[in-house]
Amino acid sequence: MSETLANLLNETREFPPPDGLAADANVKADAYREADADRLGFWAEQARRLDWARDWDQVLDWSNPPFAKWFVGGQLNVAYNCVDRHVAAGLGDRVAIHWEGEPGDSRTITYADLLKLTSQAANALTDLGVVAGDRVAIYLPMIPEAAVAMLACARIGATHSVVFGGFSADALSSRIADASAKVVITADGGYRRGKPTDLKSTVDEAVSRTDSVEHVLVVRRTGGEVAWTDKDHWWHETVETAATEHTAQPFDAEHPLFILYTSGTTAKPKGILHTTGGYLTQTSYTTWATFDLKPETDVYWCTADIGWVTGHSYIVYGPLSNGATQVMYEGTPDTPHKGRFWDIVDKYRVSILYTAPTLIRTMMKWGEDIPAKYDLSSLRVLGSVGEPINPEAWMWYRQFVGRGNCPVVDTWWQTETGATMICPLPGVTAAKPGSAMSPLPGISADVVDDQGEPVPNGGGGFLVLREPWPSMLRTIWGDDQRFIDTYWSRFGAGAGGSGDWVYFAGDGAKKDNDGHLWLLGRVDDVMLVSGHNISTTEVESALVSHPSVAEAAVVGATDPTTGQAIVAFTIPRGSVDTSADGGEALIAELRDHVAKTLGPIAKPRQIMLVPELPKTRSGKIMRRLLRDVAENRSLGDVTTLQDSSVMDLISSGMRSGK
Ligand code: ATP
Ligand code: MG
Repeated sequence: MSETLANLLNETREFPPPDGLAADANVKADAYREADADRLGFWAEQARRLDWARDWDQVLDWSNPPFAKWFVGGQLNVAYNCVDRHVAAGLGDRVAIHWEGEPGDSRTITYADLLKLTSQAANALTDLGVVAGDRVAIYLPMIPEAAVAMLACARIGATHSVVFGGFSADALSSRIADASAKVVITADGGYRRGKPTDLKSTVDEAVSRTDSVEHVLVVRRTGGEVAWTDKDHWWHETVETAATEHTAQPFDAEHPLFILYTSGTTAKPKGILHTTGGYLTQTSYTTWATFDLKPETDVYWCTADIGWVTGHSYIVYGPLSNGATQVMYEGTPDTPHKGRFWDIVDKYRVSILYTAPTLIRTMMKWGEDIPAKYDLSSLRVLGSVGEPINPEAWMWYRQFVGRGNCPVVDTWWQTETGATMICPLPGVTAAKPGSAMSPLPGISADVVDDQGEPVPNGGGGFLVLREPWPSMLRTIWGDDQRFIDTYWSRFGAGAGGSGDWVYFAGDGAKKDNDGHLWLLGRVDDVMLVSGHNISTTEVESALVSHPSVAEAAVVGATDPTTGQAIVAFTIPRGSVDTSADGGEALIAELRDHVAKTLGPIAKPRQIMLVPELPKTRSGKIMRRLLRDVAENRSLGDVTTLQDSSVMDLISSGMRSGK
């Protein structure tokens, strides 16, 4: 971006918390004041939520930036904090996980069950020679063993590296090799879209290409045929026969807890390293604060996959450290029917739901009559994560899922930040649809111009974080220099400037006239049209605000007169019929609608009606490929696409639509 980002969208709707929720909220407005007055004191107080085997000597050591140490000298065991202490407190009978398999099978796992399973898995891993500091790769479907495997690693101080179960042998083997994993934990397969998938053969191929793996532990889930090697052990013969007693030993607060490779929307995946004490402090606090979680009464459901950071922080470590009861679902939202999510909410009386904009927009496309068929009255807080949420998708979520009386918390964070950073508090904030609002207590975020100067209210630029936070990444595994170059060399001391070290998030953002924060997509996606920087997110949100549009992706394509021109790919809502004129009338209407909403500068040169959009496996729109289409190039790397046939659909849709 050569100058600041234009601020085009003007959203004035605002929704204060429901009275009852505000009165009884876990976190009230004074948390911001407390944290402002004494940031480190605030985080030390949050760390007291956990059980420490040894107290820390220093809250933060920032003497060697950008390498942070939190709770220096402290010792704790993560699994003990997520499981044992709840059982010790008499909560062994509380349900930890209501697991729902895609074919309709289910399991109920209490905290006492979880303690037994985790202890057995810890003993089995120890028997296989895994010791503290070793790396273990986990490549599993969404079954309880995924959480058990992660906790078992944490219990014995092994560093886990979870790889999303939809990734290829290539992706898996490069991640195994990068971390030199000694053991892989996998399954014969899992269920997705009504069919068993095969994981074991992918693992066999990946393991054969690497030389660090000594053992492979295999959970039986589908019962499908699997090839067997001399490294393989069945989980039910190894873990489920192991001793059920295991004493968790404390580890240093900075002991490596896990490596997680970013999803690779932009470049070569980075092995993000998270450690123990600070990570668990912030994930535990934010689960309790941002969802107003009441572990005694709430039923919480995060629909992410365990292979993403959201699954790590908000399925495993955050909820379990709070002693929450949660739902875990194996499959896809439309198997066997498009109401499956709402059926699950109804069945388990889910009260807190945390999902992604891609899912909300898909549900919008399917139509509101589907959620209307279910009893969703148990819901009281709704969360969103993963991409900017378009204001109309936010409104739809609030109205048709939350029945108009649940706060919607849009949580901005990254694999790198480990936990939520910017979001409303459900009992405090009057939230605006589409805005992540304010940094959480104890977090300092800002928007700066390309000189690193804070932009005034009403301005746009780069999102930065000014102070270290407990769950921050500690480095990129094996590559300190890339860590410094990627995040710390754009602004501030790391860029040779005076003053403090400043973390560059890679996202564009703006401050509205009240100083609230709006995330505007990745810096790489910003368009430069006739000398103005325009965010793809704002144009997409303008399109989605039209009643005929369910979803939109916008890219800047090279243009001889304007530098870049705006090209939009748009999915009409299910009810819209464009057969009469191939969509010409709708396209004209949408171009005018954007010009009216954002101003003539943002009017798309071209709008294409398409049946689908290309998404990464974590559900994010891949604008890079759409840019290739818009500029008539052959497509770049499509290996991280969720469904590669989508690009054919889009190309053929273009021919008929224009
Ligand atoms: P890679 O870094 O490999 O390209 P990725 O950035 O998609 O992959 P994640 O760490 O899972 O991997 O995603 C973090 C990014 O997702 C953020 O930097 C931001 O661009 C986007 N994001 C997440 N939550 C929100 C949100 N609530 N609002 C806006 N953007 C969000
Ligand atoms: Mg990223």
